[in-house]
Amino acid sequence: MNALYEHLLKRINTDGPISLSDYMATCLMHPQHGYYQTERVFGREGDFITAPEVSQMFGEMIGLWLADRWINMGRPTSVNLIELGPGRGTLMADILRATAAVHDFQDAIDVHFVEASTQLRAKQAEAVPCASWHDRFSDIPTGPVLIVANEFFDALPIHQYEKLDGQWHERVVCAVKGRLGFGLAPCGPQFAMVNDEIKAGSDGSIAEVCPAALSIAGDISDYLKHHGGAALIIDYGYRKSAAGDTFQAMKSHSYVDPFLEPGMADLTAHVAFDQLKSAAKEIGAKVYGPATQGMFLMAIGLGARAQVLSQDDTPGSQERILSELKRLTSNDQMGTLFKVLAIQNADLPAPPGL
Ligand code: SAH
Repeated sequence: MNALYEHLLKRINTDGPISLSDYMATCLMHPQHGYYQTERVFGREGDFITAPEVSQMFGEMIGLWLADRWINMGRPTSVNLIELGPGRGTLMADILRATAAVHDFQDAIDVHFVEASTQLRAKQAEAVPCASWHDRFSDIPTGPVLIVANEFFDALPIHQYEKLDGQWHERVVCAVKGRLGFGLAPCGPQFAMVNDEIKAGSDGSIAEVCPAALSIAGDISDYLKHHGGAALIIDYGYRKSAAGDTFQAMKSHSYVDPFLEPGMADLTAHVAFDQLKSAAKEIGAKVYGPATQGMFLMAIGLGARAQVLSQDDTPGSQERILSELKRLTSNDQMGTLFKVLAIQNADLPAPPGL
């Protein structure tokens, strides 16, 4: 039994069951034992691999998209370039390299990272020494802004509900004979966020809500509305919210039991893009997409970039570039499950690819 398991058991035995949201947040972000406090998380040797770690082309294309938005904003001489949840800093390093030739862009930007993990902040500082760090989005100084978030929203804690005998209950984490697992409790106030169509579902239905995602989408939209700019959100999830259990734990590229070794596996849930869109629209920001990641990347020129890179005559480079391209865009890999959504100030023209 690991230290976080003992900590959770003690807490639950003393105070009673905790929400799934509380469980997820503790497993991911506990200051000593949280999953993101460890270094082995990303990449081929880690537990999962994200698009920027698959290929430099991903960050390069995103970089050019952001530079295009900056040009359309009228080339402001000062702009905050913000990344939410930058992982190892790979995406931002690729963005900065790809935009080095865009006249005046690099002089205009101040790079800000929103990152909760101290371990990962140290890794990010190696990749992007010029960044400043913040605990939350609301701490960013004001001004025109460009925001990017890749696989950030799926890590935000969710609440889950289950319908039994015509009644909805909240799925909570409890301890039975010293083992952590799901139990049921009366629904907490966040249940109000479940839409009526899902509430009307049959017995056995599972509903999910992610209050943190909606609150951050609202904050971003409010900021864009007042200070100008654009945000690009890339993640896996639904175009339209549906009933179903998408809570998952991943370790060494395989699905594992989320209660077996808390803090040792990545815990995530699908992002409900329709809910992010509604949150943004309610504030008065403009939304575009979601498009699938495959369609978006090809529309903004990934194919042409891959062609240029594969002309390099290092042995094996053509095969490598082709395999990276497939990984990012094909339907059976990251191409369809991953979606791309832009939120913008209403004055900004429509973005490329969406
Ligand atoms: N964007 C990176 C990493 C994705 S993993 C990539 O694509 O490779 C999720 C990232 O979000 C990690 O850096 C994690 O530490 C951070 N994170 C998760 N929840 C967070 C929160 N509530 N506040 C700030 N950062 C968070």
